[in-house]
Amino acid sequence: MPPSRRLPRTVPLFRDETVDSFLARLAAANHLDIEELRALLDVRMLKKTPITELRPPLATVSGYTEHHLTLALPEFIATKRTDTPGLIDRPLPDSHNAQRPACRFCVHRAGITSPVICWMTHERNVCLRHLLWIGDGCQQPEDQVDITPLPDTVLAQRHHRNLIARHGRRWVGLAFHSAKEIFLDWKERYEFHPEEAVTRRLTALSHPSGKPVADDLALTAGFHPEIVRLSGLLASDHWERVALRKGGLASFLDEVSHRNILGGYEPEDRSDPLLKWVRDRVGNYNMALHFNRWEILAFLFHDETTRRLTKRPATDLRTCPLPLPHY
Ligand SMILES: [Zn+2]
Repeated sequence: MPPSRRLPRTVPLFRDETVDSFLARLAAANHLDIEELRALLDVRMLKKTPITELRPPLATVSGYTEHHLTLALPEFIATKRTDTPGLIDRPLPDSHNAQRPACRFCVHRAGITSPVICWMTHERNVCLRHLLWIGDGCQQPEDQVDITPLPDTVLAQRHHRNLIARHGRRWVGLAFHSAKEIFLDWKERYEFHPEEAVTRRLTALSHPSGKPVADDLALTAGFHPEIVRLSGLLASDHWERVALRKGGLASFLDEVSHRNILGGYEPEDRSDPLLKWVRDRVGNYNMALHFNRWEILAFLFHDETTRRLTKRPATDLRTCPLPLPHY
């Protein structure tokens, strides 16, 4: 039978929290096991049961309205395109988006004492209010480390947000994931200079407990400025067209040094990850042209947030950079 009453204790909502995380907090506050809470909700969650089925009973037991739950928990937003205020630009709960702990100081400030796991969009790497690294490598709230020793990483966080405003979230999101892979691959292949400066960056961060910072966290936080600059290059419609134009590749590659992403960059051979990125793009566009369907790319170039249904911003949409064949 569906529940008819509120639980004795309620818990504050937190923006972009996962449903599992919210259930865990609500159960803990009421001294229930998560399974006991699920039994109370009385919804059999089979593989194909939409998660929105949980919303009405959860509204009853949590004391919030269904509308408030939807505003806080993105899994309850049932559509990818919407014009409803508050539901636009919210993380899509799918496998492309990460789930990580929210900034532990922001959580504390909201009056919550247990960890909150959130759906993260790709640019949520530094909490600018508390100067805490909340990006890659943070599995637990305690992994979040004070970022003040790396002021360029803090600046890169602002730069990153500007890139999204300029090029559009979808393109910067895709570019950032590629940029991270490309840059970390370069780190394996090429000598980075000067060595002391690199070591200084990689050892700048420390936990108050004295516990060493994990290698992957040190690497992504330490080179965040370069990764964001490379994202700007990869997300640019203009530079993508240059790279794909006949004879344009050399100027595109030169831009890597000009933008101070990797000084003196010259690809060693065809297996260089940036060259591979260009080849993959050409392959993607050729496939779309072959089927004469630009929408095919929506599967590869997915959105990371809900978007407007009408009046979509111009930065959401692009045209194919390859010359269309004549028929
Ligand atoms: Zn914070």
